[in-house]
This record gives sequence, structure tokens and C-alpha cells, in this order.
Amino acid sequence: MSELRELYQQVILDHNKKPRHFGKLEGANRRQEGYNPLCGDHLHVYLQMAGDHIEDIRFEGSGCAISKASASLMTTLVKGKSKAEALELFDHFHDLVTAPADTPVDEARLGKLVVFSGVREFPMRVKCATLAWHTMKAALAGQDQPISTE
Ligand code: ZN
Repeated sequence: MSELRELYQQVILDHNKKPRHFGKLEGANRRQEGYNPLCGDHLHVYLQMAGDHIEDIRFEGSGCAISKASASLMTTLVKGKSKAEALELFDHFHDLVTAPADTPVDEARLGKLVVFSGVREFPMRVKCATLAWHTMKAALAGQDQPISTE
């Protein structure tokens, strides 16, 4: 288990160091701002929607390693997906990080998201991990107000 945990840690550190789809998205038709006052994570998520399809997604902002890695991994997973598929991923991720720490992890269902399974042992970090996801969800809903995890 500790080897696995180390591997997960490396994936998170890699996404933090080299975030994917980082920066403004020219041609975005949805944008949303998210803020996690507990930690100071602050980011913007940009979506380019074609109907119900996420053609492109980018994010920018600053925050802790968990929030940035989570945003980065999220962009790689939802790009090219439909709105319904993205919302389903949101639910899977949310269930994963908010479950009690001893809940078995369904790797087949979670895919790459499994690297964040360690977060649920650190309740303070759950909001860091979910910030980008809540922001993406609000952007999909076309919500105008910036979202805050408080
Ligand atoms: Zn954070």
C-alpha cells in the first residue's frame, strides 16, 4: 500500500509542477471563478462548449499542490466529454474524497481519480481537491456568481 501511495503522490506532484491545460482559454464561452478561503486556493475555469460537449477546457490561478493537481487532472478527464459525463465524473470524485477513510476504493470506476483517495484522510484538504470540480460544475450550469467552498 505504501508503494501505491508513493505513486499517487508522484502523480499529484507531477500535475502540480506541470499543470495540464493551464492558462486562459481564448474563445471560452463559459468561465467561472472559484475560491477556497480556508487554504487560499483561487482559480478560474474556462470552458469552450459546443452544445452539450466540452470542446476545450483550461484553468488558471494559484493554490496549494492538491488544488492545482486536482484542477490539472480534471481538465485532462473532462475535455472532450459531454456535460452529463463531466457531471458523472464530478459525482465519482466527490464521493471518493468525502467517503470515510476506510471505504474501499473502486479503482475500475474511478480510473485516474484514484490518486486523490488519500485526501479523505485529511478533511482540511477535501476543499482544496474539490475546488476545481465545483468551479467546473458551476461553469457548466452557467452560474454567474463566483463560487466559494465556504
Ligand atoms: Zn489548498
